[in-house]
Amino acid sequence: SFSTKSTSIRENVQVLVRCRPPRSKKELAEEPCWQINPEQGSIALARPSNNVVVGVDNEQIYNSGIHDLVRSSMIGYNGTVFAYGQTASGKTYTMDTAGREYLLRVSYMEIYNEKIKDLLNSENKSPEIIEDKKNGVSVRNLKEVIVKTVKEVMTCINDGECNRHISATDYNEHSSRSHTIFQLVIESRSKGLPTNTNRSVRVSQLNLIDLAGSEKVATDIERRKEGGYINKSLLTLGNVISKLTSEEPSSHIPFRDSKLTRILQAALSGNARISVICTINPTLSSKDESLNTLRFAQRAK
Ligand code: ADP
Ligand code: MG
Repeated sequence: SFSTKSTSIRENVQVLVRCRPPRSKKELAEEPCWQINPEQGSIALARPSNNVVVGVDNEQIYNSGIHDLVRSSMIGYNGTVFAYGQTASGKTYTMDTAGREYLLRVSYMEIYNEKIKDLLNSENKSPEIIEDKKNGVSVRNLKEVIVKTVKEVMTCINDGECNRHISATDYNEHSSRSHTIFQLVIESRSKGLPTNTNRSVRVSQLNLIDLAGSEKVATDIERRKEGGYINKSLLTLGNVISKLTSEEPSSHIPFRDSKLTRILQAALSGNARISVICTINPTLSSKDESLNTLRFAQRAK
């Protein structure tokens, strides 16, 4: 259960770390890299002789906070779940199973090279970010689908995935370099009040964010000095979350520095719930990337 009292956003941000199990003979043959203790909430480098690293199952991930976030979005609070981690560490696997509760209006977009694409309508002329006094920041021209059942939600996700495919060979490369935002708009009304009573309607958003592979950040940070291209959104997201969770509240939060954070500005402000699930690979060969992901997790909270 969660408190309905107004709390600072710092208390509303939770960070989880998830290590997937080995998934090939090659990976099974490799030394496990991490030793995880779910009871203590700790993760440490495993010694060569130590036991196997376990992947926390979906049920546990869902029960450790995501459930509360989804519930609170049902009664009027905005909630956002991010999956952060290197390519093939389990981001998509985690997001496909995180938000399986009931929902109402759905949109699905992709951000690739700072361009927004409508995944539910490939014919759509470019969706764009607009801001007005009444509604705040939103994306114009985005198709919204009304959904009544979990099956309809899954259909939307599948349709969106199909629109993401450019060609089979480019798919992996493309999907590890783009972010997707699956957005559910939830309108709820208190039972028993006349339908024209405006005050009884609450509108909130639940956002499920499958981020681009974090390994690009590492290379981009290295390249920054040479003036090369930076994966701005992941860096900006890290800055935004660390400012939101900082002990000293900061007046300037750099939402405007990337499309991703700009679109999510309302969902990340005020009385919003945020979960960041950081996914890592179990193997020693991914150790450096995993350490970078754990650093991101640490910085986020
Ligand atoms: P990412 O989206 O981070 O690139 P994926 O979610 O596609 O990575 O995961 C890579 C592969 O590992 C997929 O085949 C997926 O089914 C598998 N996988 C990921 N996480 C788990 C897990 N916790 N348990 C079992 N299999 C997993
Ligand atoms: Mg993925």
